[in-house]
Amino acid sequence: MSSGTTARRMRAYRFTLDPTRTQLDTLAQHAGAARWAYNHALATKLDALRRRQLQIDELVTLGLTEQQARRDATVTVPSKPQVQKRWNQLKGDTTRGGDGICPWWRAVSTYAFQSAFLDADRAWKNWMDSLTGKRAGRRVGAPRFKKKGRCRDSFRLHHAVNDPTIRLEGYRRLRMPRLGSIRLHDSGKRLARALARGGRVQSVTVSRGGHRWYASVLVDEPDHTPGRETQHRPSRAQHTAGGVGVDVGVHHLAALSTGETLDNPRHLHHAHTRLVKAQRALARTQKGSHRRRRAAERVGRLHHQLAERRASHLHTITKRLATQHALVAVEDLNVQGMTRTARGTLTQPGRNVRAKAGLNRAILDAAPGELRRQLEYKASWYGSTLAVCDRWAPTSKTCSTCGTVKTKLPLSTRVYRCDTCGMVCDRDINAARNILKDADPVAPGRGETLNACGGPVSPSAPHAPTARPSEAGRPGHPARSPRGNDPPSTPKTE
Ligand SMILES: [Zn+2]
Repeated sequence: MSSGTTARRMRAYRFTLDPTRTQLDTLAQHAGAARWAYNHALATKLDALRRRQLQIDELVTLGLTEQQARRDATVTVPSKPQVQKRWNQLKGDTTRGGDGICPWWRAVSTYAFQSAFLDADRAWKNWMDSLTGKRAGRRVGAPRFKKKGRCRDSFRLHHAVNDPTIRLEGYRRLRMPRLGSIRLHDSGKRLARALARGGRVQSVTVSRGGHRWYASVLVDEPDHTPGRETQHRPSRAQHTAGGVGVDVGVHHLAALSTGETLDNPRHLHHAHTRLVKAQRALARTQKGSHRRRRAAERVGRLHHQLAERRASHLHTITKRLATQHALVAVEDLNVQGMTRTARGTLTQPGRNVRAKAGLNRAILDAAPGELRRQLEYKASWYGSTLAVCDRWAPTSKTCSTCGTVKTKLPLSTRVYRCDTCGMVCDRDINAARNILKDADPVAPGRGETLNACGGPVSPSAPHAPTARPSEAGRPGHPARSPRGNDPPSTPKTE
């Protein structure tokens, strides 16, 4: 990835859509079809798994060992090609008056079904890999059925890359198969430029957030930062600015080793009153009523607004850090561990539970994990390097000038005063300076290199639970589920 101009990368361009009323219906219809297809594929798989297990049990009673029975069992769990083939036989067709399992399929782009079948494959594979220990990280539970109103309304469309049917019309309209031309709320100029530079549209994911629909166009584009011949090299300005240490926190959203602090916008805190009101109103409505639907919409809209604001603020910060510095150093935070509840157990209840819950909320509102994730890919985009500092390094307690380590430094002490050399500075800025000193660079596009114990992890180990278009993972092309993969003898759901 370090040289040559032919390297390509995947990048997503997200747009807010301005659909007409008719188009809104079509969008909802597609999301419904994708949900139906996912559930259908999952049901097919679960049924096959059940039948396979029955067959294995039968073979075992006939005197075979468990291992032999697994090998000889003829029932396998179907993956996308088989699911689709069977679906084609069973689907029926309204235009021919025949009844099948989904005779309405003609109203919807076939890609909505196909990508949902693929998604089911991926969910199944993640579950199996997690059960058999092939997958690192937290355990993945069994895939669950999607329910209208509970799951995210979303679908993905593909096309033939050489004969693109997903394309821009001018800067203001996006044409997609079956959906027609939908007006964009924002300008499509960025995408148009990417296509002019030799980008090729791979797929589009359309999803609803609150009251809005979004289209995320995945583009396979040549990887060169404009104005720079070689990639992944810092610009002169970045060189001059050098490295920056970033201490992510709650008091400040981030403190930089340069002495600057970035305020925490505390989006959740500001939206809290309105959220509480909306949720209370929802709780007071009758189940199944129109008012309840409207109240739920309002809650959803507020949550969505909050998420959008948080994301946009973080994007601004991470882009600035990545474009202005040759190296960005962050701490390797264990966000999940940091935000664990203080509730304790029934026999040993925890203390300060409410206070800890409030702190957890504040930490998650600042979204330190997301900040890190964005820095990871943006650093490689803009020729900067990401460096990560060991999770257990005493960055707050160490003096950044002389290196003396204090034994104690309560959270309430906002200013660091060194008893040895007399250095006085903001506690978070002191930490940011130490982070810059201690951090080790991460190879671009490698993702996390440290596990919970700070030891190196094989770079090929899977790490991201959900692949983002901006990372190495390609959501449109999940790994094929192994055909007839051996189900575990007792599939456990957590
Ligand atoms: Zn000192």
